[in-house]
Amino acid sequence: MIRIRFPTAVRPPAELQDRPDDSVEITHDTAVIALESEKNRPEHVDGVNTVLRPIFEQMWHHASPLFRIVSVETRSSCNYTCSFCPVSRSVDPREAGEMSLELLQRIAGELADLRFAGRIALFGNNEPLLDRRLADIVRMFRSSCPKADLRILTNGVLATPDLVGELFEAGLSTLTVNNYTDGRRLIAPVWTLIAAADRLRPFDIRISVRSRTETLTTRAGLAPNKPHPTRTPQGFCALPFTDLHISYTGDVNLCCFDAYGSVSMGKVTDASIVDIWQAPGFAVHRRSLLRGSRAGLSLCQHCDFDGFREPATNVGRKVTRADL
Ligand code: SF4
Repeated sequence: MIRIRFPTAVRPPAELQDRPDDSVEITHDTAVIALESEKNRPEHVDGVNTVLRPIFEQMWHHASPLFRIVSVETRSSCNYTCSFCPVSRSVDPREAGEMSLELLQRIAGELADLRFAGRIALFGNNEPLLDRRLADIVRMFRSSCPKADLRILTNGVLATPDLVGELFEAGLSTLTVNNYTDGRRLIAPVWTLIAAADRLRPFDIRISVRSRTETLTTRAGLAPNKPHPTRTPQGFCALPFTDLHISYTGDVNLCCFDAYGSVSMGKVTDASIVDIWQAPGFAVHRRSLLRGSRAGLSLCQHCDFDGFREPATNVGRKVTRADL
């Protein structure tokens, strides 16, 4: 099924509202698609510190839980230009490259050994559909981690019904399309998916209608349209406690906001992902963030992301943004 979320004040096109079947739904459910305007508010920053930080303190007091989300950037580059993005095609300074299939297989194998059943995001700071090997890579990770929640987030420019169908047949769980326009219109490829909605009905396809010129967070100081925070960043951030981000170079970076890979925790070619997760670099960042301090951390000190990530359910119940 295709579920589409428009910004609150935007009226969806009539042809979507009047559809006779239920293969396309206009959703307002924040659990399906969260709008950017629903994140990073000052009250969320406060809530992360008062609600979330104690939960992570408790979880990490005696143990070092494993990551819940692994993002694998299978290659570099994007084919679009959004003013808030440090890797849009007009500003990305990184050398183009892709992760070898051998390295991808090694990562998948390590996750298989861990019986990893969390989320595997086959994207990072890139446009994943540029990778022509993507269906094979989905198949590889699905075969290694049959219970994982396998996701792809794309700008949708290269999406076709055939490609989307192939990705799901290969084992994808969810495809989210960030439909970047003026925040109102749908791009042509999204209309082709809608036209094929009946065929795509078995699959979890989510479309978020967004503006390509919005101002979001500083992205650790790398956002071209907001390099500086409006107030001194401080407070807890859960990402280094939950997320393992592997860039196309094989480096595990502090978090997905480290778009240019300036803080490497280790290289998956040289060490296991579990050893990297327990490396001193992560420990230094976690200790400081548990104190609520971003000062002195080269990326975090410029980062005004609210730090929210749902903790594991072993704290008794699911914590959502609504709790902040
Ligand atoms: S606060 Fe630090 S760890 Fe959290 S998202 Fe920003 S740069 Fe990453």
